[in-house]
Amino acid sequence: MQKNIVISKQSDIDGFNSFRCSLCGDEFKLDTNEVQEDDVLEIFCPSCGIPSPISSFYTDDITEHAQRIAMNEAIKSIDDMFRGLERKYRNNKYITLKAGRPIETTTPLPLYEQDNLEQVQFLCCSKNAKLSLVAKTVNPYCPYCGVN
Ligand SMILES: [Zn+2]
Ligand SMILES: [Zn+2]
Repeated sequence: MQKNIVISKQSDIDGFNSFRCSLCGDEFKLDTNEVQEDDVLEIFCPSCGIPSPISSFYTDDITEHAQRIAMNEAIKSIDDMFRGLERKYRNNKYITLKAGRPIETTTPLPLYEQDNLEQVQFLCCSKNAKLSLVAKTVNPYCPYCGVN
């Protein structure tokens, strides 16, 4: 049984979502609509300038959120399976099956955007990003074309 889990995270008030470079650890934000344009397959880290696929820039909270949801789904399907067995063997005098208490699941933490970054515009691509103060002051790379 294959289940697709959709993770959605609300953008901040300006429509930006967080990304984190797995190489240098710097966090930045990009306009959600601009990132989702079809021709954007990779983004350049504004701090170290190294391009990577967008999925490698997902922040830890999203990864953790996805893992928890997947775990809850797994627990639920084991639970369901056991309950099904319990029903199946209900009238069987040789086998008695009793499902215990449901396994506890943990509710994923709500995902939210912090707003602690500075907005900059990259004129090369006329796109916006929000960068940490450090990245902003050291001549950042454009996340879309890598121009410094
Ligand atoms: Zn980086
Ligand atoms: Zn650019």
